[in-house]
Amino acid sequence: MLIAGINAHICEVCVEQAYDIIQEELYDRKNPNAEAPAPKEKSSSPFQFNPSITPRDIKVHLDQYVIGQDDAKKFLSVAVYNHYKRLMQPSSDDVEIEKSNIVLVGRTGTGKTLLAKTIAKYLNVPFAIVDATVFTEAGYVGEDVESILSRLLQVCDYDVAAAERGIVYIDEIDKIARKGDNPSITRDVSGEGVQQALLKMLEGTDVNVPPQGGRKHPEQKLVKVNTENILFVCGGAFDGIEKIIARRVNTQVIGFKASEKERIDRDNLLQYITHQDLKGFGLIPELIGRLPVLTYLDPLDLATLKRILSEPRNSLLRQYQKLFSLEGIEVTFADDAIEFIATKALEFNLGARGLRSICEAIMTDAMFELPSTPEVRTLLIDAEYAMEKLNRSKLGQLKAA
Ligand code: ADP
Repeated sequence: MLIAGINAHICEVCVEQAYDIIQEELYDRKNPNAEAPAPKEKSSSPFQFNPSITPRDIKVHLDQYVIGQDDAKKFLSVAVYNHYKRLMQPSSDDVEIEKSNIVLVGRTGTGKTLLAKTIAKYLNVPFAIVDATVFTEAGYVGEDVESILSRLLQVCDYDVAAAERGIVYIDEIDKIARKGDNPSITRDVSGEGVQQALLKMLEGTDVNVPPQGGRKHPEQKLVKVNTENILFVCGGAFDGIEKIIARRVNTQVIGFKASEKERIDRDNLLQYITHQDLKGFGLIPELIGRLPVLTYLDPLDLATLKRILSEPRNSLLRQYQKLFSLEGIEVTFADDAIEFIATKALEFNLGARGLRSICEAIMTDAMFELPSTPEVRTLLIDAEYAMEKLNRSKLGQLKAA
């Protein structure tokens, strides 16, 4: 940043230096016999990584907020732990550890974003969520991939040093898959073009970032951010990838290995996902190579949905109980109501996201009425109550998907 004077400009670094010199000078004049003051701490950022955390600690923390998904939790804990261990490695070391960017594959509403968010919060590092669908290749309508880092800078109040140790979650990574295998005359500016643009950033390089995001233009002030130590977690539903997995799994077990075929869990093929399947889906090999950790999330079944309703520390039911307790009203959810809500969510097929809309439909009347009826201080939600409220709501009248 340059501050204009009459005949010259002064940059931000020189301003800081000049300020320090003045402070020292003033201090010396005031205390002629004192020792020099201690140098100022370099970064006063609130984001500090605690080096004593282990992968197990990370997983235990995740367990409090995310139900199930044990494989994903284990992969993520190890990858994130290794990533931060790598940051603490002395730069003179001859074995350089490479970055372990992660890709999470799982249906919508199964907890991909929640996992990444919970880890970042626990580690106390800056965290930004971006959506891959808004990006296009440079020069086309849409956002440049550099704006991913603008989002991260905004989160940590433009503290570049903190941003350079942050975590970025890139959602909907499957939507930038190549649109088809045939090279065509029209360029694939929101698919393969974006994948190409992401390569350098994922690997680690100096990126000139427009601080406010959006398109870069010539007169713009740019901030340089090094992505070497930024961890990228990509997530996507990869709709239809099961077919690609099935094709591979089927061809592998033909013939004398056919007995293995029985052991394959056909209902959850995602667990067999490999990088090769991502390539079949339309991610380019260069991008896949920069996302070495691949893990999957299980689809949520009835039992898991029931647990999600009540178990996590900030579960939906606890949130409603808290809301009502602020009014002095005690709300209880009967087991059959929990079963009913989870069954409905399963029908809607929106993962855990469906739970929220169903609960809203059930609770709205009570939230509207009870604050103005001081004589009612307790409320029991059972299956009958839930069913009645849901059937009367717009949501209940919708046909299940
Ligand atoms: P996506 O996989 O589409 O990124 P999210 O992580 O955004 O889904 O999940 C949506 C919401 O569903 C979260 O805010 C969370 O409350 C809930 N949720 C999803 N999966 C789980 C889970 N395994 N445990 C607890 N809550 C979950």
